Amino acid sequence: MNDFVAVVGSLNRDIVLRVDHLPAPGETVMGSSVTYHRGGKGANQALAAARLGRPVAMVGKVGADHEGTAYLRALINDGVDVEGVSVDIDEPTGHAYILLDGSGENSIAVMPGANGRVGPEDVAAASRHLEHAAVTLAQLEIPTDAVKAAARLAGGRFVLNAAPFHELGAELLGLVDVLVVNRTELASLAGDELAGDGDDVAAQARRIAGPDAVVVTLGAQGALLTSAGGVVEVPAPVVVPVDTTGAGDAFCGALADSLARGEDLEEAVRWAVAAGAVATTKLGAQTALPDAAAVAELLSGQ
Ligand code: ADP
Repeated sequence: MNDFVAVVGSLNRDIVLRVDHLPAPGETVMGSSVTYHRGGKGANQALAAARLGRPVAMVGKVGADHEGTAYLRALINDGVDVEGVSVDIDEPTGHAYILLDGSGENSIAVMPGANGRVGPEDVAAASRHLEHAAVTLAQLEIPTDAVKAAARLAGGRFVLNAAPFHELGAELLGLVDVLVVNRTELASLAGDELAGDGDDVAAQARRIAGPDAVVVTLGAQGALLTSAGGVVEVPAPVVVPVDTTGAGDAFCGALADSLARGEDLEEAVRWAVAAGAVATTKLGAQTALPDAAAVAELLSGQ
């Protein structure tokens, strides 16, 4: 049986500049430090599953530049199959410019670069991976047409993390087995205000037609699963969060990992909630992704 995960999505070079306060339009501020990180929801989620021990194939695009080459080398080191990541000769590797102030507030500008050039033909070229993967996982940092192509080609379950929010359309939603959103993305998809309590969230999630199941991440409150089987709330274990960056990516990678292992959706959400919680206890996105032992330890201590 195939037990691997295919991730179709973005790879970004993140440049994080710490500033005293975020600049107003036209204002120049001085930074106190600059750090460089590998990011992009696609690669973050691929790494999240790989770090949990899951075989992972990544499908996406980088530029013909140093950042792209270094990124692929790093993914290979982490055990990710990058055969499905192609090199675009016209656009640079995607970049995210993140300004972070002393209170943790940020401003982000993203240059999609090669990520914006992932098309249905690139996804089709990686069809071997998608047809055989137990789970294909995608996000919305690449063009929707490419995501749709991935949904059509997926031989196993198709899991879509609808982040960052874009209108999806009924056709794509109808191809989704499991939709993962946070509360804000859910409200946008439902064309509604932010839901208040769990009942509101469940009601909103039920209005999303198409997916077999909708999983809503709720930060410190964990996650809520709605499917034909009903509504299940999975509380998050209590942790001391240091940095919640990347918690959503840890969640999605872990969900795919567990589903590929053959667990049912409720069990997979429990595993994902715990992985997301562990990720909040460390700084950074990729650096905070937990291994299976750390997630199992948190779950066993509950
Ligand atoms: P996003 O960052 O994508 O909006 P969430 O904030 O909902 O996503 O977090 C994703 C997951 O990470 C949650 O479902 C939960 O498992 C975990 N998580 C996030 N914040 C906390 C926290 N403060 N305590 C424990 N777990 C958390």
